[in-house]
Amino acid sequence: MSKSVRPLRVREDAPSARCACGALRLTLHEPPQLTALCHCLACQRRTGAPFSANAFYAIGSVEVAGASTEFIRTAESGRKVRMYFCPACGSTLYWKAEASPSLIGVAVGAFADPAFAPPLLSVFEQSKHQWVRLDGTVEHFEGLPTGRS
Ligand SMILES: [Zn+2]
Ligand SMILES: [Zn+2]
Repeated sequence: MSKSVRPLRVREDAPSARCACGALRLTLHEPPQLTALCHCLACQRRTGAPFSANAFYAIGSVEVAGASTEFIRTAESGRKVRMYFCPACGSTLYWKAEASPSLIGVAVGAFADPAFAPPLLSVFEQSKHQWVRLDGTVEHFEGLPTGRS
């Protein structure tokens, strides 16, 4: 991309996400295609939090910098989810699901941006912690959204 004719107020850098120590970083060259919260038990274990906040990007729009370690989890569907975490600090930064090969999932917290796009979907609410309340703009699903995988 040319930097020569941009107005001064435009951010020169594309949004980026990084692990806790900063060694593993992503640059996102397009907006997310989907944002979702997931209350499944695997996400609870992965994040250490009651639910995960996830943003999904077209695979070609994500630039990865730094070393990562892969952890492969088999989903209930039998398909694999490949997660990538920083070998130095352990933060899982992004993942690729066999079920949706054109997308990369990114941990929303890794943007450290309170103004990040809110979630559109809330999935696997069958295992949602009871105290978690979400506002009315989110679409709720007990499991996965029908017609998605
Ligand atoms: Zn790190
Ligand atoms: Zn999940």
